[in-house]
Amino acid sequence: MAQLWFETALLPQGWADRVRVRIDGGRIAAVETDATPAPEGERHAIAIPGQCNVHSHGFQRGMAGLTEQRGRPDDDFWSWRELMYRFLDRLDPDDIAAITAQAYVEMLETGYTRVGEFHYLHNAPDGRRYDTPEATAAAIVEAARQSGIGLTLLPVFYAHADFGGAPPAPGQRRFVSDLEGFARLVDTSEKPLGEDDRLGIAPHSLRAVTPDELSHLTALRPGGPVHIHAAEQTREVDASVAQLGARPVEWLLANADVDDRWCLVHSTHLTEAETDALASSGAVAGLCPVTEANLGDGIFPARRYLAAGGRFATGTDSNIQIDVAAELRALEYSQRLRDRARGCLANADEPSVGGRLFRAAGAGGAQAVQGDFGIAVGHSADIVSLDADHPSLIERRGDALLDGWIFGSNRPAIDCVWRGGKRVVSSGAHVARADVAARYRKTLAKLLA
Ligand code: ZN
Repeated sequence: MAQLWFETALLPQGWADRVRVRIDGGRIAAVETDATPAPEGERHAIAIPGQCNVHSHGFQRGMAGLTEQRGRPDDDFWSWRELMYRFLDRLDPDDIAAITAQAYVEMLETGYTRVGEFHYLHNAPDGRRYDTPEATAAAIVEAARQSGIGLTLLPVFYAHADFGGAPPAPGQRRFVSDLEGFARLVDTSEKPLGEDDRLGIAPHSLRAVTPDELSHLTALRPGGPVHIHAAEQTREVDASVAQLGARPVEWLLANADVDDRWCLVHSTHLTEAETDALASSGAVAGLCPVTEANLGDGIFPARRYLAAGGRFATGTDSNIQIDVAAELRALEYSQRLRDRARGCLANADEPSVGGRLFRAAGAGGAQAVQGDFGIAVGHSADIVSLDADHPSLIERRGDALLDGWIFGSNRPAIDCVWRGGKRVVSSGAHVARADVAARYRKTLAKLLA
């Protein structure tokens, strides 16, 4: 049985000092406070639990920064999407594995220990199914194994270009399924998964899935996570009103059994009534503030949503930047810029912005991808240690450590990361960083030549 000892640690009941964590079979077997370090155990400074990343498209890491040049005066999400379609058109399963592994290594180095992969690149470039239908799912599992990150695979159903069952566009041929083919794909995607992986369902959006298809999909994996993109763009909201007579989140709450299995990704454009209703549904809002800023999506009404008791988690989505701290910081800053105020997402019970956001995102993330959050007996040993000598952390205690890390660290403040009890990051660097980066470099050299 391995053991780790920390000078201070964030536990579910709060911060505690001199914490000893015993690990057995990748899970936490005991947590003792005011403990003396065992002579044979490792000693570290500051422990916090790993976070779950609820929304990732791993392959998009390979195009980070390539779409920052203005193409035309009305550049927006939709023109970005055309470029993204051109990029993904060239990827084979080996490329997907190489790029996704790079993204997952970076997730672990920045504090994410499980990822919900919203996986829609199912078909070969010509639109045909691969001979092994789960070829691209297997590439994602390979990336998860190589990096050691926990995986919640979310195969995406995508059938239409827009509301009203519009036929898919040529650029979407790598995503498209019918219901029968998709059910088979979900079954075969289970093959490469390991005991610690989870499998859910992701109806892409109300644009790409009809109401009838949606009801079939949510029955495919009873009890498993259901993730859907919703209300990321105002054009999508307008089309939803025109076609379905309701805004996307309004429609889902009225017509689908949205409960704690569900993660509504983005949910950017909400009325006050939708905000309150989503907050009381038990579902998680999957917020991706860095990507939403990058794509010019809009600002999520986080202040009202959190005040109404809403659950949320973070996702790195396009993987333009991968960093737990950056997502939480961007979320708070979006509210500050809109409201010209500070401390927007803290409250009287939890006055530390970083502390409140870290705990709330952790709980919501674990719910949305059916992972664990918290240094507690029975949980997967997914632990992050912070560097006590980092300039933003010196002489900080308790939640001030989280505030220092989230708001003040302009270089990585993470020292080690354990995932399932195995140390995968040491002195800020992933143990497989060099190998993964070499393969990634070769892959991009081929793709971008
Ligand atoms: Zn997405």
